[in-house]
Amino acid sequence: MDRALNVMFVVSEAVPFAKTGGLADVAGSLPLALSKAGLRVSVLMPLYGMIRQGGSDLTKAITDLEIPFDFFTLKGDVYSAVRDGVTFYFVERDEFFDRRQLYGTPKGDYFDNLERFVFFAKSFLPLCQALELKPDIIHCHDWQSALVPVYVREKWQDEAEVNQAATVFTIHNLAYQGLFAKEKYHLLDLDISLFGIDGLEFYDRINFLKGGILWSDVVTTVSQQYSREIQTPEFGCGLEGVLQTRAEVLTGIVNGVDYTVWNPATDNLIAAPYTPTSLAGKANNKKALMEEYQLDPTLQEAPLLGIVSRLADQKGFDLLAAILPELLADNVTLVILGTGEEKYHKLLSQAAAEYKGKIGVTIAFDNRIAHLIEAGADMFLMPSYYEPCGLNQIYSLKYGTIPVVRATGGLVDTIEPVDIKKKTGTGFLFQEYSPEAFLACIREACQAYQNKTLWKKIMANAMNRDFSWESSAKAYESLYRQALARKAAERSSA
Ligand code: ADP
Repeated sequence: MDRALNVMFVVSEAVPFAKTGGLADVAGSLPLALSKAGLRVSVLMPLYGMIRQGGSDLTKAITDLEIPFDFFTLKGDVYSAVRDGVTFYFVERDEFFDRRQLYGTPKGDYFDNLERFVFFAKSFLPLCQALELKPDIIHCHDWQSALVPVYVREKWQDEAEVNQAATVFTIHNLAYQGLFAKEKYHLLDLDISLFGIDGLEFYDRINFLKGGILWSDVVTTVSQQYSREIQTPEFGCGLEGVLQTRAEVLTGIVNGVDYTVWNPATDNLIAAPYTPTSLAGKANNKKALMEEYQLDPTLQEAPLLGIVSRLADQKGFDLLAAILPELLADNVTLVILGTGEEKYHKLLSQAAAEYKGKIGVTIAFDNRIAHLIEAGADMFLMPSYYEPCGLNQIYSLKYGTIPVVRATGGLVDTIEPVDIKKKTGTGFLFQEYSPEAFLACIREACQAYQNKTLWKKIMANAMNRDFSWESSAKAYESLYRQALARKAAERSSA
């Protein structure tokens, strides 16, 4: 049997400690799944003020860890907490991390994000030295920890704690790159020769994400389809050429979901439980959802469409806006939960006032309603322009709430198109990013909904799909072993 791998995550957020998005879900649950599979896993993240205030049971692991930064040696304590066999380490430096938000306020990013995350990246080696940790794999995520693989190769190549380790870098959303003024380059403590077109430079600025892509042994994204799309100009955010140069080591592993939280058989936030073989509770949830939004009770038999999303252009709300009057003239009802861009807040609030009884809208982040929509709706709409992985469509499968989605990114990898003749598939997909294609796809799904036997079969197909973390954790473990083999081969040829 292979020896248990020792893996360290370096990441800027993880549930249950701090979250702004899907990254935290992955960083909070993948380590636990890996640990369950027999790997030894720890996580390094910043100690945000909210973590201390959140009442987590923190233990001091290191007093006065010395971290070189600019002309100084900054001291930071390190705390730890254990969850299901995984140790989470939190590096403390209040002037950087004790703030209201993680990365910025609605007025913009914090002006010193470069300093904050250079400090964070540089804390990794002293932490390993102080605790005598010697990881086989250093797994970094998004721009906030993208400098770690650069340091491993360019600064820490003689440091025994890390120089044998393979680095893995996961891109959760290519649109966020960590771009900074080149005048701050000296703070990175890297040779100026690395600031070039083949290095950290990007249109005359510093690009952290590019560092992670270029210097890691292996690069991944959160679905296979997205790993292909980001190598094209349409989805590459200017980094498509860089990603193409790493195509050989670039792969996609789809995110898992936590079925202890998202399962209609055990979900206590919904009106009634149900399972693939006992669906009666689904109708109770639909009734409860319709009552919650005072939808027209005579429309109980009409398909109820649901949306839970950030209200952002990425998620396809411009398409929804374009089809709304026509869609609501059909025999359907619609419920939307989301927060985000002001223009969509306005649009949806106006629609809620104009089409009373046909549409329900909540502009908020509300976990209870998110669960109720998953359970009560018949279909789930996700017309994303791009989607690295997407979680809500995977939850929807489990709740028998059939996804109607655009064929992009993780939506392609997780939804199998319905074949009406063969009664196979789990959802409806449209290709072209246009209002016409979106509306036609919804109507096709509504047509299928009228055939109760067919619809029940599609629901059963969807509910029986398994996207638990176990299989993704296995894929990561085999990727880790490939990365180590690659690193070993490189060392022996050097
Ligand atoms: P992204 O990370 O791009 O926002 P995902 O589908 O990957 O999209 O994940 C979004 C997560 O946030 C899901 O867990 C979803 O249920 C949740 N979510 C998004 N908006 C809301 C909201 N307004 N209220 C409650 N949960 C929400």
